[in-house]
Amino acid sequence: MGSLNMTRRTALIGAAATTAAAATAKTVQTAHAAAPQTGPIRPSIYRFNRGAFEVSTILDGAIQRENPHEIFGTDQPREDVAALAEANLLPGNMLQNDYTPVVVNTGNEVVLFDTGNGAARRPGRGALLGTLAANGIAPEDVDIVVVTHFHPDHVGGLFEGETPAFPNARYVTGREEFDFWRANPGARGEGLQRILEATVFALPDQMTFLEDGQDVVTGITMIDSSGHTPGHAAYHIESEGERLMVCADLCNHFVLSMQRPDWHVLFDMDKEGAAAARRRVLGMIAADRIPFAGYHMPAPAVGFIAEQGEGFRYIPASYQLDL
Ligand SMILES: [Zn+2]
Repeated sequence: MGSLNMTRRTALIGAAATTAAAATAKTVQTAHAAAPQTGPIRPSIYRFNRGAFEVSTILDGAIQRENPHEIFGTDQPREDVAALAEANLLPGNMLQNDYTPVVVNTGNEVVLFDTGNGAARRPGRGALLGTLAANGIAPEDVDIVVVTHFHPDHVGGLFEGETPAFPNARYVTGREEFDFWRANPGARGEGLQRILEATVFALPDQMTFLEDGQDVVTGITMIDSSGHTPGHAAYHIESEGERLMVCADLCNHFVLSMQRPDWHVLFDMDKEGAAAARRRVLGMIAADRIPFAGYHMPAPAVGFIAEQGEGFRYIPASYQLDL
């Protein structure tokens, strides 16, 4: 009996409490609607210093694709590519690739490395201009645009419609890259050729051409890393003894091309040359323990490299560059 009474009392108290809670909830609901969900969001800018230089990486957008082995490890069995992804806690059948231009403000000039996809060409993946503006850099502020190589996700943002997107900029690119695409129209299809005609080949008068070891400005030096394209260039940045490599498309997956640099990659025009460039430049970055920015690394796309097994291990920057 005692327990029955107790149960009745508890039930009554419970009912009263429930009624009170419902009343409170109703009152609260009247005063505050639930905050709307606003969807997933990713950090889109990272800014840090190298000596007197201020460096920003900016997320232009990302693409998701099925079947990673159709791009990375095209000379490998599909299961081996999937197994390496899964061993690194990535899905074996899906990948995401980011597009991450770099800005260096030297204190004298604003230098932009690559221009993203272009909002008009690839809606949803051309956020560069908007994100730059939101972080205090207007298109007019960009003094120099460096084009690392002539692929659409790097040149696509050079123009906004018919108008240059960075109206005060001059342009710098590799001599070999420009000469190859000029001499071989349609080398990678008519679609790319049309994009090149509307972008880089519409700007030759404002363009300066560099060879390996030459400077964009003091402290920013071109490093030949051809293979991905015939004149693909990386850039070594140094100010007051602090260094950074801007690697562009030297290595385009932080696991598959980093841990297996020799695996063939669909978008590398010279498979063996690209692998050799990866081994050479990634090896230097690892040996010198310097940070690097990789255009297709996961945003904010800045990290370090350590030698590991038959290749390298990517270590995303944590606080090293904030200290
Ligand atoms: Zn690319």
